[in-house]
Amino acid sequence: MGDIASDQHQICADIFELDEIDKQFKLEDEPVMVIVTSSTGDGEPPSNASKFWRKIRREKNPQFLSHMKYTVLGLGDTNYSNFCNCGRVLDRRFEELGATRFYPSAWADDAVGMDSTIEPWLQGLWPALKETLSKIGNSTDASVNNLSDSINQLNLSTENKPTVDRQLSSSNKFKSDKDTITYSSGLAELTTLTLPPKPTHTLAVKLIESAESAHQASIEGQYHASTLTRRECLTHDAAVKPVMSIDLQLSEEEFVFEPGDAVKVVCANNENEVDLLLKRLQWIDKAPYQLDISISPDNTKKSAKVPTYIPSMCSLRYALTNCLDIRSSPRKNLLRLFVDCTTDEDEKRRLEELCSKEGSEIYIKYILEEHLSVLDILNHFPSCQPDVPILIEFLPSLMPRFYSICSSPLDDARSIQFVYSLLKFEPKNGRTYERNGVCTNWLNEIDLGTKVLIQTRISQHFRLPLTLDTPVIMIGPGTGVAPFIGFLEHLHLSSKSINGFDVNNLNTWLFYGCRHRRRDFLFEEQIQMYQQINVLKHIFVAASREDNYPYRYVQDQLRANGKDIADLIYHRNAVIYVCGDIKVMVRDVRETIAQILKETFDIQNIEEYMKSLETSRRYLLDIWS
Ligand code: FAD
Repeated sequence: MGDIASDQHQICADIFELDEIDKQFKLEDEPVMVIVTSSTGDGEPPSNASKFWRKIRREKNPQFLSHMKYTVLGLGDTNYSNFCNCGRVLDRRFEELGATRFYPSAWADDAVGMDSTIEPWLQGLWPALKETLSKIGNSTDASVNNLSDSINQLNLSTENKPTVDRQLSSSNKFKSDKDTITYSSGLAELTTLTLPPKPTHTLAVKLIESAESAHQASIEGQYHASTLTRRECLTHDAAVKPVMSIDLQLSEEEFVFEPGDAVKVVCANNENEVDLLLKRLQWIDKAPYQLDISISPDNTKKSAKVPTYIPSMCSLRYALTNCLDIRSSPRKNLLRLFVDCTTDEDEKRRLEELCSKEGSEIYIKYILEEHLSVLDILNHFPSCQPDVPILIEFLPSLMPRFYSICSSPLDDARSIQFVYSLLKFEPKNGRTYERNGVCTNWLNEIDLGTKVLIQTRISQHFRLPLTLDTPVIMIGPGTGVAPFIGFLEHLHLSSKSINGFDVNNLNTWLFYGCRHRRRDFLFEEQIQMYQQINVLKHIFVAASREDNYPYRYVQDQLRANGKDIADLIYHRNAVIYVCGDIKVMVRDVRETIAQILKETFDIQNIEEYMKSLETSRRYLLDIWS
C-alpha cells in the first residue's frame, strides 16, 4: 500500500508497525492514519500491536484523537466467532477518542478470499485519502504543515489510471490441457484494459563470480537453534493423509513454553523446485555464485531498502531456497512487471488481463484460488523472461510455519514435540508441477541431526485452567489433538508433583475424530495410557470414513453425550477447547454445543450465552487453515 501510495498517487506515506508507537511515530502528531490489522487467537491484537492497543485503551481524554482522520482495514476469518475483532475494536476506540473516519473501514474475510474485499476497498481509498489530505492541507493547523509538500504534488483532478490498448491477435482461449491455465476470457472483447501502474523497482544485483562463501542468515539471532532428534509416522500405510511426529532438542538454554503454545519453525523451499525455477530463469549455471544486492544507483524512491530477510551477499540459489516465498501466487504488481519482460503479444495481453482492474475475477479464480506459483506463471508464459532483481524485490519473504506443541516442559524443558500432516498438491487446474507443502516437506526430508531454527508462539488464553479439578472438554479431530496430548501429559506430571492431589479429581473429556480408527487414530496408545492412569476420564472417537460406525464427526459424539456436556458447562464451569485445521468443524461444534445447551436448559438467548463463554475464556479456539 505504501508503494501504491507513492508510485501511483504521489502520496508519501510513512509505514510503521503499530507497536512502534512513541518510538517512530506519535499519535498526537499524525493527522491521517490508515490502520491494517489482523487478529490472533480469539480476536486479540497481533503480537506487534499489543503495546499500541494497551496505550489507546488506557487513554482517558475523549478528545485525544480529535485531530485525527482514520480508516481501518481488518483482516480476519469468519470461521472465528470474533471475526476481525482487533480491527473492529481499534476502529471503535478511535471513534471514542474523537477521531473521524474519513473512509468506511472494511473487514476482509479469509474464508471467502480477502481480495474480494481488499481490491474494491483500495480502489476507493485513494480518492478519499486525497480529498482528506487536500482538506487538511488547506487547514491552518501547525501539526499538518509537514504534509503540505506531498499534498502539493497531488493532482486531484486526474486519476492516475494507465490503460493499454491491445487486442488478442489469435485465439481468445488458452488450450485446455492440464499444462495451461484453462480459462476462456470474456475480456478478450475488451480493447482497453486498466492496468496498475508499473511499480518502480529499486534493487540492483551484481554477480560476483566466486563460489558462495559462508553466509549469515539475518534472522538467525531471533531464533533458538534446535536439533531434529526423532521423526516417526503416526499413521498406518493405508491412511489418506500421513501424519508425522517429531522431536526437536534444544541445544543450550531452556526453551520457555507451556502446553497450548505453538512453535514457529523456519523452513526452506524444495531443492528441485528451486532448480526448476533457476533453469526457467536461465540462471542455473550462475546459481552458486554470490550476488551483491544493493539499491540501484538510478533509484529515486525514498523508501527503497534491501530486504532485511536476504543477506546482502548470498547466491541466488540461497535466496530462492531460504529467503523468498517462491510458492505463493504472484501479486498483480509482479504480473504487471512481467508484462514488460514478455515478447509474445498474446502472452503480453493475457498477463495484462490478469493484472488489470477488469481482470480481478479471473485473477482471483485462476491464480489465487488455484495457488499458482511464480514458476507456474513463468511456465504458462514462455516468452516472459524477468530479470532476477525483480524477483528478489517482489517475491515475499518465506515465512516460518506454526505447529502446536504436544509435549510438556515438566517432562523435558529442552525438548519439544509436534505433529504435522503431509500435504501433496496435484499438477492440475493450471499448476504445472506436482508439489508438497513447503515446511512439512522440508521437515520430512531433512536428516536427523539437522539444525532447526524455532521460536515459541505463546498462547494468550489456550491454557489449562489454574485449578486442576476444573472440568476440561477437549475437542480436537486429526492433528487438532496435538495440544491436548501436551495438556494430558502436563496434568499427569503436575498432579504427581502436588502433594496429596488425587488424580481422581481430574475431570477430563476428549473428543477425537479421524477417518478410520485403525489407520489414523493419532496417539492411540498414549491416549489409552492416560485413560488407564486415570488422567483422561472420558474419550469419544468419531470416524468419518468407517461404514456402520454411528459417529462420523466429533459433533455427533458431542450430541450423543449432550446432557453430560451441557451439565459440565452450565453447572460446573467447564472450559471447552477446540483445536484443528477443519474450519467447518469449528462452526459445527459451536452450533452443536449451543444447541445442546439450549435444549437442556432452555436458554432463551443462546447466542448471548455462547458469547459470554467466549469472553470469560471458557470457550477457546486454536484453529488454522
Ligand atoms: P504450504 O506450502 O504452506 O501449503 C499449504 C497451503 O497451501 C495451504 O495454506 C493452502 O492455502 C495452500 N493450498 C491449498 N490447496 C493448494 C493447492 N491445490 N496447491 C497449492 N497450494 C494449495 N499444522 C499441522 O500439521 N500440525 C499442527 O499442529 C499445526 N498447528 C498449527 C498451529 C497454529 C497456531 C497455526 C497458525 C498453524 C498450525 N498448523 C499446523 C498449520 C501449519 O502451520 C502449516 O500451515 C501446515 O503445516 C502447512 O504448511 P506447509 O508449508 O507444509 O504447506
